[in-house]
Amino acid sequence: MDCLFCKIINGDIPSAKVYEDELVYAFRDIEPQAPVHVLIIPKEHIASANELNDENCAVVGHIYAVAAKIAKEEGIADGGYRIVNNCGTDGGQTVGHLHFHMLGGRSLQWPPG
Ligand code: AMP
Ligand code: ZN
Repeated sequence: MDCLFCKIINGDIPSAKVYEDELVYAFRDIEPQAPVHVLIIPKEHIASANELNDENCAVVGHIYAVAAKIAKEEGIADGGYRIVNNCGTDGGQTVGHLHFHMLGGRSLQWPPG
């Protein structure tokens, strides 16, 4: 399948790995929007949050547990951080493989633009 993030999981495209287990892969965003900007993705190809269902959604809970682990390792757990999923055109999704942005290391604005 012609998917950028599947290629990153397979190692066909290099990435700065932060964490990996049997279900998820985490790596640094190539265009970081904060001092810590990690993308956490399921190894299973799920195109977007629109494709989540009762059969495949457990990985999302696991992604949040992995995020908490990464936050401690990256030193942003106490300061806080934001986890963002962009879905579809209006959501600003540019890569068609479900991913969660983890942003931290600076004060983040709210609401987003
Ligand atoms: P989104 O706009 O929510 O779909 O997020 C896609 C993210 O993937 C953007 O923040 C990009 O900077 C990031 N990105 C695109 N290509 C790569 C890559 N080869 N390695 C790491 N991050 C990437
Ligand atoms: Zn994919």
